[in-house]
Amino acid sequence: MAIPFIDLGIQRERIGAKIEDAVLKVIKHGAYIMGPEVKTFEANMAKFAGSKHTLSCANGTDAIELILLGLGVGKDDAVFVPAFTFVATAEVVPMTGAEPVFVDIQPDTYNIDPVKLEAAIEAVIKEGRLKPAAIIAVDLFGQPADYPALSVIAKKYGVHLISDSAQGFGCSINGKQPLEWAVATATSFYPAKPLGCYGDGGAVVTNDDALLERLISFRVHGGATPTDAATMNYTHEAKYLNVRIGMNSRLDTIQAAVLVEKLAIFGEEIELRQKVAKRYNELLGGKVISVPFVKEGYVSTWAQYTIEHENRDGLQAHLREKGVPSAVYYPIPLHQQPGYAMFASGTGDLAVSEAKSKTVISLPFSPYLDEATQDEIVAAVLSFKG
Ligand SMILES: *Cc1c(COP(=O)(O)O)cnc(C)c1O
Repeated sequence: MAIPFIDLGIQRERIGAKIEDAVLKVIKHGAYIMGPEVKTFEANMAKFAGSKHTLSCANGTDAIELILLGLGVGKDDAVFVPAFTFVATAEVVPMTGAEPVFVDIQPDTYNIDPVKLEAAIEAVIKEGRLKPAAIIAVDLFGQPADYPALSVIAKKYGVHLISDSAQGFGCSINGKQPLEWAVATATSFYPAKPLGCYGDGGAVVTNDDALLERLISFRVHGGATPTDAATMNYTHEAKYLNVRIGMNSRLDTIQAAVLVEKLAIFGEEIELRQKVAKRYNELLGGKVISVPFVKEGYVSTWAQYTIEHENRDGLQAHLREKGVPSAVYYPIPLHQQPGYAMFASGTGDLAVSEAKSKTVISLPFSPYLDEATQDEIVAAVLSFKG
């Protein structure tokens, strides 16, 4: 049987009947938009995240954009993002009217480098064209960014610290999730993410009451919040009072029903992921340029298991011949993407992002990856003599 890159089938076998029942229930009750499962899921998600609030939305990209809008980030603002991430992290910034400023990553964790971040903020201040407004830290491949260091910088310069935890939701540093340091965390339920649904979905978790009110408004067409309505002396249904330019970004009730079941086993799956990653590290450590490095006290959700090889493309072709799928996250750092060339001036040195884009390769991974299949994958990697 072909090895899948991310095996969603075993989990489906495990809880498929429960998910089918839950979905059928939604189809029968008919509250397809903002039905009761959405509320249940948001409450369960807040409990899992240890957050005061969870606001679900249509996808992870919108989740990040909603946070920026909710914080009032826009024209003439600079938003600092790592150059080595999925494009969505940077994409949402110009959508708000602000500009992304690319920052290089640390070579061992692939996450935004706090020292280079501070240099980038100083450079933007010196140039004087944009006002530093926010940092979007990414928990790349599932490992939390260095939030303790980032939050010191965010406070020093008075900028918002936002967490893009689309790959890392559930990750932690000494038992604390990114929200301990960030004003809000965005995540994605794209099926291949550690916590995925059966389509698109996303969420924001936050402890900030005022931010939540604005997120609720931006999520559905900029409708009036209770605070807005109270000050506006409006006599019709507040639903049709549009105070700000928002979007339509609701999580489908059917997807919420799927997520309620998946979230129930997510904690256990994060544990299983640690075992699979540990075994990969033991079998591959010292035999390829690098196996993933997770900092002391940090827990990764292992969205990807990523190694490096000096002949990465050769290794990928070799694996393909052996029937082992692999993926390259990411082959082009964002400042070199054609659509982002206008922001390329940035703050100079992005050499680590450029180098990593040439050597990284991610191997098949799932919490349910069995030892025999893992051995086959490892043997295929080690048989490459390129
Ligand atoms: C997947 C991902 C997103 C976007 O999530 P979607 O649900 O696909 O919109 C944002 N940031 C990162 C780092 C991601 O991996």
